[in-house]
Amino acid sequence: PSVINKIAAGELIDRSAAVVKELIENAIDAEAKRIDVYLEDGGRKLIRISDDGVGIDAEDLALVFRSHTTSKLSSAEDLFAINTLGFRGEALPSIGAVSNSKITSRIRGAISGAEIKTEGGRIGDVRECGAPEGTQIEVQDLFFNTPVRKKFMKTAPTEMSYISDVLTRFALCYPNIHFTLRHNNRTVFNLPPVQEVIERIETFFGSELKKHLLSAFLREELFSLKGYIAPPFLNKANGRLQFIFLNGRYIKDTAIYRAISDAYHGKLMNKRYPIVFLFLTVAPSEVDVNVHPTKTEVRFRNKSVVFNYVLSTLKDALNKSQP
Ligand code: ADP
Ligand code: MG
Repeated sequence: PSVINKIAAGELIDRSAAVVKELIENAIDAEAKRIDVYLEDGGRKLIRISDDGVGIDAEDLALVFRSHTTSKLSSAEDLFAINTLGFRGEALPSIGAVSNSKITSRIRGAISGAEIKTEGGRIGDVRECGAPEGTQIEVQDLFFNTPVRKKFMKTAPTEMSYISDVLTRFALCYPNIHFTLRHNNRTVFNLPPVQEVIERIETFFGSELKKHLLSAFLREELFSLKGYIAPPFLNKANGRLQFIFLNGRYIKDTAIYRAISDAYHGKLMNKRYPIVFLFLTVAPSEVDVNVHPTKTEVRFRNKSVVFNYVLSTLKDALNKSQP
């Protein structure tokens, strides 16, 4: 019965980090203020995510593991007015198809909660149960019924580094949410809410980088853009230290990467990349986020406008810093 979901899962869910990403997105969409992530064996044995969000009632719980049920879209036009991270209704059916999973939830103010289980896509009945307010999802034995996928997963430390990346991106984009990450009873992150993203940048990348970050810039015209930049020589990492967030989601975008290096034209040192944390907000109608299941790639209605906007904003910031 779940062949289609297994195929869909192959596109969306390729490793435990993808499960963590989808479940955190759901918790954020549910307005959680605290999100706890617990993993065993790099997520291969267990991924448990708890949130204090709005919860799911028993009636909806019966649907969440079924294909293409989303509470977030009601008409086709809504696709151009998306202000939630999810909208395809694919994550839970995909995850449910390739794991043994359980969701327990209680909506705020309800007397009791409810739970539902799936075993490799065989969905059980909803049962009433005691539960804290909010939602908890446990994903066990990921890919137990898709051996090829399972083989593709790496060692626990490698999986953990992907998961840390996912957590880092959310933590930078949502500084007012309390995130914790624990692995085999060891605390990896405990990030109480903060006012400003700069405080989280300091936590992740150190006070040395924080000192050198160029003062925040902010423009509010067509779009709004704010962020921090620092020159390439401060980049001690291999590869990019470039975080681009669009409307609350981490994205990869070649046009924006190009704008960043163009802004630093002639100042690239030892092929290192400038350090950038960019937070871009555009009207939902200006961007198509429904390009790829994972939604890390987006399509702008007018790519060159975005390119020029980022380029000129970064250039301004750089010029101001060099009298
Ligand atoms: P999507 O996020 O695209 O709507 P998902 O498969 O990720 O699809 O989730 C299906 C539905 O389950 C969501 O639309 C939402 O109604 C509900 N849901 C999932 N996770 C949570 C959560 N943590 N809190 C509240 N509701 C949730
Ligand atoms: Mg979702």
